[in-house]
Amino acid sequence: MSQILNEIQRRRTFAIISHPDAGKTTLTEKLLLYGGALRLAGTVKSRKSKQHAVSDWMELEKQRGISVTSSVLQFEYQGHKINILDTPGHQDFSEDTYRTLMAADSAVMLIDAAKGVEEQTKKLFHVCRKRGIPIFTFINKMDRHGREPLDLLDEIEKVLDIKSYPMNWPIGRGREFTGIFERQTANIELFTGNGHGSTVVPTRRGDLTDPAIVGSMSKASYELLEEDLELLDMAGDQFDLQQVARGELTPVYFGSALTNFGVRAFLESFIQLSPCPHEKDSSSGPINPEQQEFSGFIFKIQANMDPAHRDRIVFLRICSGVFNRGMMVKHVRTGKSIRLSQSKQFMAQDTNTVEVAYPGDIIGIYDPGVFRIGDTITEKSKFSFEAIPKFQPELFARVHLRDAMKRKQFVKGIEQLTEEGAVQRFRHPDVGLEAPIIGAVGMLQFEVLEYRLTHEYGVDIQLDHLPFTLARWAAGDNLTPPMLKSADNLVLKDDDENLVVLFRNQWSFNWEVERNKRVTYLEQPPA
Ligand code: GDP
Repeated sequence: MSQILNEIQRRRTFAIISHPDAGKTTLTEKLLLYGGALRLAGTVKSRKSKQHAVSDWMELEKQRGISVTSSVLQFEYQGHKINILDTPGHQDFSEDTYRTLMAADSAVMLIDAAKGVEEQTKKLFHVCRKRGIPIFTFINKMDRHGREPLDLLDEIEKVLDIKSYPMNWPIGRGREFTGIFERQTANIELFTGNGHGSTVVPTRRGDLTDPAIVGSMSKASYELLEEDLELLDMAGDQFDLQQVARGELTPVYFGSALTNFGVRAFLESFIQLSPCPHEKDSSSGPINPEQQEFSGFIFKIQANMDPAHRDRIVFLRICSGVFNRGMMVKHVRTGKSIRLSQSKQFMAQDTNTVEVAYPGDIIGIYDPGVFRIGDTITEKSKFSFEAIPKFQPELFARVHLRDAMKRKQFVKGIEQLTEEGAVQRFRHPDVGLEAPIIGAVGMLQFEVLEYRLTHEYGVDIQLDHLPFTLARWAAGDNLTPPMLKSADNLVLKDDDENLVVLFRNQWSFNWEVERNKRVTYLEQPPA
């Protein structure tokens, strides 16, 4: 097998999607522990608080105790190279969270066994669904009293409209959760550790014919397992890898990230069943990862990692060929040639310079000031990968500049942040850029905007939050703002002079659609 093919086949690039507090940080940490990238779990979280601020940007992360930006963690497990795209885990997530999913080949949906399918999980699930990527489910916190597993599967199927197949089944619940039954092999794994979770948990393996295994299960757990397995065999969906690949069926695993119970079983099954990087659509047809020519796209821009340079790092997902540090590449949108000499890879504990990288890998490169979200990079060809969609903003605020003398910095700052994709900018049709209206998918984006305008551009602003939750682009012949105006909407323009209408809610949008049939409303700017 050629080296590149071998490297592609052993790569798994995925993101964990979940609602805050479901345990994403904990699970990520445990995956690193099992991958040998951490010796003792409990360091990822504390790293956040101990790490001294290397930039204003990180200062913000530190103050809030959250991870504002997504990073990428890489580790090896059983010959596989695993890239976890870490999506921001805060309630106030941002477009970054969504965009990161564009760079993933599969997703792990993490669900709190007591809470079931929560709001943010739903939103992220739908983005994955649209892309048709495989979604694996880990039902977490089984060490606590939660909802019944069958009930949770039912909710996943009904709320998310995806079929599910439990790959394993919990033995006992809450404190009695002592093992898992692997359905395809009928093997049992009992956890014999103390459940502190800072080291790999010892286990004992066997099956239901093994008296030692059965003898270590409580009578109640044993009977419950027998009952559940019977029900599952009668009622459940069949396992079908093709359906998993198309995102129609989600394999489900049970466990506890805190105590490590079920983490290894999940990881080992996941690397077997999840896809390696495969071909990706472009303007000149599908691009095969094995092709010789290097290519990739930018899905994220992070500013100001180093305040001394006020530079930007862009995150590039490699789609084909081999990356070698120092190589010359073509920036397709501008046609410019760029040498990729400063390339970073983000490991569990630190940042390394990366010399060679393969399809599926994510590298950070310094931006000489040319990159935008969604840009394609190749060696010489002119194709572009599909555009990264703009995600529907749900929060809007009018931004006022407090000191009129700072107008230039203000406009430049907002422009820069819009280009990075940190926020979306709109304006009143007959007002200039000095009183923009900003759209975001999460509150955090406004805080980041305010913070960065103050710290990077020296501009003081005031935000007036607006009572709208929905933006739609208006399409139709010879439309003018008065034709779109109603009592409770707001008509704006985007940077490309497209008309955008903000609505209070779905109901007022539906009403407007009924009332004004001359207009077609689009979820994305017209092409
Ligand atoms: P995130 O917001 O999704 O990153 O969640 P964290 O990993 O920070 O976890 C949120 C809280 O849930 C923390 O207090 C964790 O210790 C706890 N937690 C995470 N996984 C488990 C688990 O498997 N069982 C229990 N009992 N608690 C857990």
